[in-house]
Amino acid sequence: MAVSFGTLKGAGLERLSPFRYGRIRDQVLVTNEAGGFVLLSQEEFAALVEGTLAEDNPRYQELQSKHFFRSDAATASLARDYARKNAFLFSGPYLHIVIVTLRCNEVCVYCHASRRDVSEDSFDMKPELARQVVDTIFESPSPVINIEFQGGEPLVNWETVRFLIDYSVEKNRTARKKLEFSLVTNLSLMDDEKLAFLMANNVQICTSIDGPKEVHDHNRKLLRGSSYDQAVQWLRRADQAYREKGLDPDLYHVEALLTVTRKTLEHPREVVDEYIRLGRKAIFLRPLNPFGFALKTFQSIGYTSQDFLRFYFEAMDYMIDLNRRGVEILERTAAILLTKMLTPVDPNYLDLRSPCGAGIGQVAYNYDGTVFTCDEGRMLYQQGDDMFQIGTIPESRFQDLIGDPTVKALAVASCLDNIPGCVDCVFKPYCGVCPVYNYAQQGGIFGQMPTNDRCHIYHSILEYLFGRIAEGDKQVLDILTKWTIVRDRSVFFSHD
Ligand code: SF4
Ligand code: SF4
Repeated sequence: MAVSFGTLKGAGLERLSPFRYGRIRDQVLVTNEAGGFVLLSQEEFAALVEGTLAEDNPRYQELQSKHFFRSDAATASLARDYARKNAFLFSGPYLHIVIVTLRCNEVCVYCHASRRDVSEDSFDMKPELARQVVDTIFESPSPVINIEFQGGEPLVNWETVRFLIDYSVEKNRTARKKLEFSLVTNLSLMDDEKLAFLMANNVQICTSIDGPKEVHDHNRKLLRGSSYDQAVQWLRRADQAYREKGLDPDLYHVEALLTVTRKTLEHPREVVDEYIRLGRKAIFLRPLNPFGFALKTFQSIGYTSQDFLRFYFEAMDYMIDLNRRGVEILERTAAILLTKMLTPVDPNYLDLRSPCGAGIGQVAYNYDGTVFTCDEGRMLYQQGDDMFQIGTIPESRFQDLIGDPTVKALAVASCLDNIPGCVDCVFKPYCGVCPVYNYAQQGGIFGQMPTNDRCHIYHSILEYLFGRIAEGDKQVLDILTKWTIVRDRSVFFSHD
């Protein structure tokens, strides 16, 4: 879609600030560095580059208001917008993923090599190490700290989760940061006591719901009983517990995530209906994460990026139609991209920014004290590749971790200005690459975008979203704009 910037010639070009362009349906999309965009007819685009676009043309006004025309004032405004969009560069790592155990009581078809049986308690993080991990986390300069408990299944090592929360809250009495906890759990080991503790500490609970019961139980197997029944039962009770605290259920509820397997591809509408039936207003349609699979596993549950996109677009069309009929449901990837496209802020989603969050937005702490740029880097370590390890607790201080050359290499490799294909892509202001993905799939942290499936997926989703905007249907535009509204959920930061 993107045409090389160098091929463009026209008398009007010297009046224009740098921009990228590409075709969306029968229109031409132009984007600038701060994420401003305008859709032009082909005639308007030709007139723009020739310098003949009339000043009373509404597109001229729109281009001017978004600083596409060169002037001192426009450059200053563009610089301010750019700084606001990239504010994440100045805050340091806020997401700290703590792998409290590798043990898990479920067996999922897409699980990574790191899962251990519940009987193997040598794969738990011990309390003394947990204390040292929290001490390290609080050395981050970020004023916001989100500690996310992951596994395995974190509830298998409940005592360490409890300790990490208690000790972090105590430490924060002097640190005074915005401290937030999230627990990523399959919910099957939840009980009333644990739930009460999580509620008392304002923990955001996240779980997996892979669609209707048949699909969920196919993907996620419990030794005894249905993983779906367990997850849904506790999802409802946790939602109720948030309500009993007097919290707005639209803002405070269990977040559910969906991993798309080959089985899910057959059910794009059913998974959306299931989320609505469970009272969710958002669904996160995530493609399979390819790290750490045996090739054999991927061959049985994997699919092509084209297959995923067919599923994704059918689900998206369906969700937009449901919204037209008054049903509130949004898709998270689309909401993240639309926020970048339609608002002046960046949602700081760590896998979709330039540079990405590896080591500079997030850090992952393994049960054994090894530390990684991100959880995906940790997954490769569990397969025997320590490429993304940046230190070990307690030997490494926070400065050592983020000063590690691996962090610098990943920042360079995920900076879109350095990547052939991305640097002149019309979607560059909204996109991001993943060096761990590139390394695992293409053999090097600098990906080859023409054959990169992750690029193919984001490129196609962005093309779809701009295509829906280009249709000019006001109701669709209102729906997509509504998906960008970020509402205050500050109770999750409250621990006094
Ligand atoms: S990764 Fe994103 S910015 Fe880079 S070429 Fe692909 S769609 Fe464009
Ligand atoms: S390397 Fe990939 S997974 Fe890790 S933070 Fe960057 S984008 Fe995310």
